Amino acid sequence: MRDETEERDCVIALDVGGTSMKGALVDRDMAALHTVRRATPRRWGPDAVIAEIAAVLHELDRNAATHGLTVRGAGVVVPGIVDEETRTAVYSANLGWRDLPLADYLEGASGLSVALGHDVRAGGVAECRLGAARGADDVWFVPIGTGISAAVFSEGRPVRARGYAGELGHVVVDPGGEPCVCGARGCLEGVASAAAVAAAYGARSGRHVEGASAVAERLMQGDPDARAVWARAVEALGTALAMATTLFAPEVVVLGGGLAEAGGLLLDPLRASLARRLTFQRRPELVLAELGDMAGCLGAALAAWQAAGGRSSSQFPPPSLSEVAS
Ligand SMILES: [Zn+2]
Repeated sequence: MRDETEERDCVIALDVGGTSMKGALVDRDMAALHTVRRATPRRWGPDAVIAEIAAVLHELDRNAATHGLTVRGAGVVVPGIVDEETRTAVYSANLGWRDLPLADYLEGASGLSVALGHDVRAGGVAECRLGAARGADDVWFVPIGTGISAAVFSEGRPVRARGYAGELGHVVVDPGGEPCVCGARGCLEGVASAAAVAAAYGARSGRHVEGASAVAERLMQGDPDARAVWARAVEALGTALAMATTLFAPEVVVLGGGLAEAGGLLLDPLRASLARRLTFQRRPELVLAELGDMAGCLGAALAAWQAAGGRSSSQFPPPSLSEVAS
């Protein structure tokens, strides 16, 4: 049983994306009590983004006070390369920063203790603890959106390598293929990200579409261009996941992001594509993410509760997965 004061506790969670930020006050039972959304002002440069993060933390802190809630700390997750140990946002092509001591800065600006994390790893922790991979120790969480990344968990622990592990989008699936934003050629991301699928459909058919969901719709209508583009993306993902399976033997692969919204249209052919490539390997279960675009925010809250010196709730026992905040 908890006492009265514990019930009035919360943490501030903030997921900073390339286009928008999602913030929330989250209680010990991982319920989001209040949420906010803001545009990420990345066109104004990294200083503007950092100022906006501090402003949203301040706003949520005031909101908590208004509702009589005590804030136990904050979790902030950002994209790019993040070193949780040194609390540094090492690099983000999208947000334009390099070697930024973001947690220290935000603590100075807000007066809160701040746990800094990586958006995809934090989302992966949330899926492991609260979502589609509950109960599994060997997990890959693969969001497929504008880019492709992965959070890797091996024997219940996040594989971080100072923030460099899990860059699944930049394994080469088409040697000598199209140039990638990373400087290499033929990367998975250039073939199978939601953005790449939409662009490839436009280039092939001469018809512009808004995103990968529009390609999925045309696929269901039997459009041959959509079928070709989709099949190429699925085969590329199959190749990459076969590598992941051979090297890490995940029990569960959780697919998220915009492309996974296609559901069975992605999952069914991808399961078949992966199965064709495997021989002796342990077969992973391919499932869809359950937490949607709240995964990063909930992961930020888990990191904040961990840093505050306690489990968020007794129902989330595996202590090793919570190391993401350490
Ligand atoms: Zn690349």
